[in-house]
Amino acid sequence: MSEPPIVICGQGLAGTLLAWELIHRGLPVLIFDDPHAVSSSKVAAGIVTPITGQRLTLSPGVGEFLPEALACYAAIARQLGQTHFHSATQVRLWRNPEEPLRFAQKQQDPAFAAHTAPARPGPAADPTLFHGSGDGFEMPASGWLDVRAWLAASASWFAARGLLRPGKPDPAAFRPEAAHIRLPDGQTARTVVFCEGAAARQNPWFPWLQWKSAKGEILTVSIPALSQERRILNGGIWLLPLGSGLFRSGATYRWTWPDELPTPEGRAELESRLKGLLRVPWEVTAHEAAVRPIIHQSLVRMGRHPVHPGLAFFNGLGSKGVLHGPRCARLLADHLLQGTALPNHLDIAGN
Ligand SMILES: Cc1cc2nc3c(=O)[nH]c(=O)nc-3n(C[C@H](O)[C@H](O)[C@H](O)COP(=O)(O)OP(=O)(O)OC[C@H]3O[C@@H](n4cnc5c(N)ncnc54)[C@H](O)[C@@H]3O)c2cc1C
Repeated sequence: MSEPPIVICGQGLAGTLLAWELIHRGLPVLIFDDPHAVSSSKVAAGIVTPITGQRLTLSPGVGEFLPEALACYAAIARQLGQTHFHSATQVRLWRNPEEPLRFAQKQQDPAFAAHTAPARPGPAADPTLFHGSGDGFEMPASGWLDVRAWLAASASWFAARGLLRPGKPDPAAFRPEAAHIRLPDGQTARTVVFCEGAAARQNPWFPWLQWKSAKGEILTVSIPALSQERRILNGGIWLLPLGSGLFRSGATYRWTWPDELPTPEGRAELESRLKGLLRVPWEVTAHEAAVRPIIHQSLVRMGRHPVHPGLAFFNGLGSKGVLHGPRCARLLADHLLQGTALPNHLDIAGN
């Protein structure tokens, strides 16, 4: 009799990364997802930003997360025969007179400086196209995962091998039994890993988590005057070049929301920020929204249920899923397969 599979509920970024990690280790997997559902992963820009925010913070652990993420997406690309991670320099434009001073101070730290490009003569961005002086700094080790296309290509690969089933089984209908988990359709699983994104808030097996999820809205805009720009630009709002003068631009954060649809207020906020950045005209061609799965302290939570070890969890990728997801998926696979302890602060059993 063949070994029961590891079942993964949810084929967003978390579930897909875990599935690839297990497949590469030769494990049988079965993934469930509703292909028509809107998800954070399908809406995400997929950008990796080593230095973030108004305080120019070096993303914690980026020195370990980034090489592992690049290697992971490259290994999956070899399997798919297609690359979905695109390296691109990111330009961070100064937003106020304090930032260049803070930057000069932070440059004293070699770990910070390693993520910045040597200053070049002239402004970082053309001040005839952008408001302000066009000054700032460049992050050479940046880029983006075309998450939607990567999920679709992975789904085709999984489906062609019978590893993907359409549907969203109700977590309450899974039954832990002595040696395995009984699925709602009567089949058995060695382990069930819930990778449900923000929907996991309703998962009855993990009620103790403190969720801080945030709805995000994002635009796709046509900016003909920037059709030659290949870098990701960030100045109060970011612009991710898709080619032919099209850019994705965002994003908003809302901590409460009546529904998950795009709103006129979200669009107005994004267009107002675009107005603050661009001297040239743009046209909005798409407007999307989704809820980022964020858990207390913005940390990933993963691992086995403390009472029912056949049920497991992988969630909380927050705003940095593309950077953090690969390393977390590897740690979780080590934990599930070899019993390797998870870092305490990430282990769902203790949080
Ligand atoms: C506007 C916006 C911009 C973003 N930009 C970036 C960015 O630039 N860089 C970055 O790194 N991150 C970004 N993110 C965050 C990123 O989307 C998340 O970190 C990540 O995609 C979350 O992945 P996930 O798989 O945990 O959740 P999700 O993407 O929500 O996936 C969960 C999946 O599980 C399915 N599901 C739910 N319940 C069940 C069930 N019971 N059975 C089966 N399937 C189920 C859902 O349908 C869904 O497909 C952005 C997010 C938003 C909203």
